[in-house]
Amino acid sequence: MSLSKFRVAVFLHGCFWHRHVAHHSPLPKSNRDYWAKKFRRNHVRDRRKIQDLRRLGWHPVIVWECQLRKGPDRVLARVVRAIGHGGVTASAGTNRPKSSG
Ligand SMILES: [Zn+2]
Repeated sequence: MSLSKFRVAVFLHGCFWHRHVAHHSPLPKSNRDYWAKKFRRNHVRDRRKIQDLRRLGWHPVIVWECQLRKGPDRVLARVVRAIGHGGVTASAGTNRPKSSG
């Protein structure tokens, strides 16, 4: 889901597929190599996607499956906050070093 008007991209991550660290769940016992590789690929792809979005001035919001189940209102609050950031022009915090001479 993406709110292109606000430059907010919401990712819903399944806890199993994206290896939510909060659960500390071990890899499946059979085909460990296969799963390790698969999960790592997912992870790398996620990170790259998020970095790309940031570079383009978007505000990615990662929502985990379990967070959505436990507290959908909190998740919504995060999305709303990201939308708020999207509305702010990025003029603050760009103080260039003074050049002398
Ligand atoms: Zn989770």
